[in-house]
Amino acid sequence: MAEPWYAAGLRFACTRCGRCCSGAPGHVWLSEAEADAIAERLGLERGRFREVYTRLVWRGGEPRRSLRERGDGACVFWSRAHGCLIYELRPRQCRTWPFWASNLVSPEAWQETARDCPGIGRGPLHDAATIAALAADDGLPPR
Ligand code: SF4
Repeated sequence: MAEPWYAAGLRFACTRCGRCCSGAPGHVWLSEAEADAIAERLGLERGRFREVYTRLVWRGGEPRRSLRERGDGACVFWSRAHGCLIYELRPRQCRTWPFWASNLVSPEAWQETARDCPGIGRGPLHDAATIAALAADDGLPPR
């Protein structure tokens, strides 16, 4: 199998700038297990949590659950003062960022991603095997 273009690894260290959590409206996909864990942490009944904090979006041929956003597009769990309010329980797509399959299809796609994420290109070098494993299970639904 051919080596990926990022065979030498990629540098990334989150600066906690919050751009990926508070930019334009998007989706923060979460599994039912992730939803249950957050609901439990908040002390909310499962159905109540889903009603208040999530919405269903049709994607990849089936309804998928996403966190809601505030009016300004920020994730409902993003706090300007405190950052991510559910950091330890953040959904997989947040944990795997920026090593999403869609960001790694080419060096150009990676550079495009880097324009919005100042953490790319700094910090520790992540090896290709780790990156490939994250991209293969990045928490995003099929397009
Ligand atoms: S945009 Fe990048 S550096 Fe900023 S919070 Fe998100 S992951 Fe971290």
